[in-house]
Formats: sequence, C-alpha cells, structure tokens
Amino acid sequence: MIFEPQFESMPRPRMRELQEQRLHDIVRYVYERVPFYREQFDAAGIRPDSVCSLDDLPRLPITRKTDLRDHYPFGLFAVPTSDVSRIHASSGTTGKPTVVGYTRKDLDLFARVVARCLAMAGAEPGMILHNSYGYGLFTGGLGLHAGGELLGMAVVPVSGGMTERQITLLTDFRPEVIASTPSYALTLAQEFHQRGILPEEISLRFAVLGAEPWTDSMRRQVDTSLGVQATNIYGLSEVIGPGVSNECVEARNGSHVNEDHFLPEVVDPATGETLPEGKEGVLVFTTLTKQALPLIRYWTGDIASLHSEPCRCGRTLARMSLIKGRTDDMLIVRGVNVYPSQVESVLGRMPELTPHYRIIVSREATLDSVEVQVEVTDDFFRIVGSEVLSDDIVETHQLLRQLRDRIAYLIKDSMGVSMQVTLVAPGTVPRSEGGKLQRVVDRRALR
Ligand SMILES: [Zn+2]
Repeated sequence: MIFEPQFESMPRPRMRELQEQRLHDIVRYVYERVPFYREQFDAAGIRPDSVCSLDDLPRLPITRKTDLRDHYPFGLFAVPTSDVSRIHASSGTTGKPTVVGYTRKDLDLFARVVARCLAMAGAEPGMILHNSYGYGLFTGGLGLHAGGELLGMAVVPVSGGMTERQITLLTDFRPEVIASTPSYALTLAQEFHQRGILPEEISLRFAVLGAEPWTDSMRRQVDTSLGVQATNIYGLSEVIGPGVSNECVEARNGSHVNEDHFLPEVVDPATGETLPEGKEGVLVFTTLTKQALPLIRYWTGDIASLHSEPCRCGRTLARMSLIKGRTDDMLIVRGVNVYPSQVESVLGRMPELTPHYRIIVSREATLDSVEVQVEVTDDFFRIVGSEVLSDDIVETHQLLRQLRDRIAYLIKDSMGVSMQVTLVAPGTVPRSEGGKLQRVVDRRALR
C-alpha cells in the first residue's frame, strides 16, 4: 500500500512546484528566525525572496555538523524551547553531542514519513511491529514507534539488547515486521538457528533495517536466515531521524526519498559542486517543512546517487542508492581512498565468514597498516575444530591459512591496498544492538 499517494505518487512537475514553493518559504523562515542563517545569507549577498527555484539551491550555503556543534545546544533552533515538544541528541563519540528538536507539528511529520516508509517496506495496518531500535536519545526507537502506530500497527517497543527476551517475544507474539539494525537482525537469525528454528517457522515477513551501512550480500543473508524481505530505511537525526527514505519492497532498488519534505541533492565531496542525476557524491538535504530545526543544504557525509525514473511500485518519489560509504568513514591508507563497504563486499563473497568485521588502522613509524578482523561462521568454526583462532593455529591449519590468504588477495586485488587479515571466533566482534556501529578503529589519530 501507499500511505500518502497524493504526495508519494505526485506527477514530478507538480512535485517540483511544491518543492519550489516550500523552499521559498523555508528560506524566508530561517532568515527571519535563525541568526546563523541571516548572517550566512547576508555574507553571501542572498536576499531570501530571490530564492524561488530549485536552480537557486547551489547559491545557498552548505550547513555542516560542526555548525550544529558550534551552536550547541539550541542555537540553530528556529523556535523558543517553550514551543519544542521533544529533544534528541547523538551519542557524541567526540566532543559535544549533536542536539535536535521537534515541535508538536514536527513530531506529526516524523510519524507520517515513518508510516510511509513502513508501508514502502511491506507493512500494513493490523500487522505487529517488533521494534528493536534503541529507545532513548537515539531517534530510531521512538521514530519507528510513532510511525508504526500511525500506520495502524501494534508496536512492541522491545528496544535493543536482551536477545534472549527478543527471541521469546518474536516466537510468542508472531510479528510480521521487524525494525532493527542489519547486524542485529543477523544476531537474531543466528540465535534462531542455534535453537533449531527454521526460517519458515519464523513469523516475520518484512524487515526494516537501517542506522548502519550494509550491502546486498548482507541483505541476502537476512532474507534467507529470517525468511523475510529486507528493505533499507535511511535517515539521520539532523534531518528528522529515520523516515527520510526507504526502499519499496516491490523493487528494492534504491530508497524513495520523502522529497516533498526533504529536498535531496548530490554534490561533489571535494568542491561542493552540484552533481547531475546518477552521479555519486555526498547527499545534501534541505528540510522543507520542519519548524524547530530547519536545515538548509545539510551535508550528510553519506556517499550515494539519485535516480528519478519511474518505479514499479507506483511511487514517483526519487530514489537514492544504498550508501556506498561516508566521507567521515573514508580512510586514506597510504594515499588510497578506502571505504569500509568495499572491504565488506569482499567478505560478503565468502560463505565461511559472518558479516561481523572490524577494520583497525594503525601507523608504525610513518607507514599505515590495516588489519581486518572478521568472524568465521559457527559451521566453519566447528570444521576447523579449534577453541581459539590463535595465530599459531591459523599458521598450522591449512584451511584457515587458505581462507585468510584468499581474503587478503581479493582485498589487494579490488582496492589496491594490502591488509592483514585476522580470523576470529564467532561472537567476538562488537555488535550494534540499538544504535550506530563503529566499523573502523583508526588508531593513527591517537598517536
Ligand atoms: Zn518503488
């Protein structure tokens, strides 16, 4: 089903008109209410009333995460805190967290766009949603929750962690839909497998997965091991949270952007120049209708491309590709650009491996070295018959040595960078249970 067909299937010329009207209004709104934007526009010589077309977008300044941090906590809000109904914040691994606010109307919008996304993923009114996203300051849990309720689902607010209890509730409540991170969906699949429960015995039909980058090989594993059709949900709290876009279950070929509210652009990561449709670059969003924290041309750091050809689901909303990587995550190793997703796609080709891996970068004297730690599957672990995959065992065990050498060869072959490969026992790489997962540990910065 399509939750709001009047917008999601709107003819594209009409969508453009709506976006241009809303862009004009929001530019004026931020100019009048947010000193940061007034200064930016004045400095660039932009009169708010002169912005009437999408062609005017490249003239507008880019907003970055650092701008939010510099105005911590509420400096970019366009309303007084007395008009704010909810505040979320990022975990803030470095320095201050990023703070976002919602008015009552923003929360209604948040629920509507998530309801659209759930419907895109295959969910329907009357189904049960098992929501394993973390509740709390992270926008995932409460975001999916409100969207599910608005769609007419029964939402089970399990939150992240306590896998034992999740398995019990999944078995007893028999939900049709699960929302979680892709890595946690695989953790649950592994638990079912260990209990001898077959995918066709699991009630789930649709999985709405997001909050961390994933690949098509991970999707195949989730599909087969849980017996579902998995789709990608995309969002970031600065723009609204989850609900910016979702793949439709009919095509599963790019995520439909709710572009009547979040205007997408793709720009060159180095120059900031706007790129044409189909070209890969950094996603930039302008919020067209948010009240508390409207953002003009917000730099997401996520690398993707946009496409607007017709989709078989009947929606006309443009689609964005799976995220190829993040400009933040992009590693420069011995002068070569490396995205973790490239490593992941090599690992995804090996049936002996799980999708759980970490990349550790360090520097000896002046030379960068990269180690890839990846878990082998339970089945493979039993075959090699070891308690621990210590270096000694890997050296002497022919199967392990061959596997390790093959991974190292394929990585070097596809990326042009040598990496040391370490095979580790199942369950030893840190998991994401509700929030974001850190795939890359860059120890160079600590020296
Ligand atoms: Zn579609």
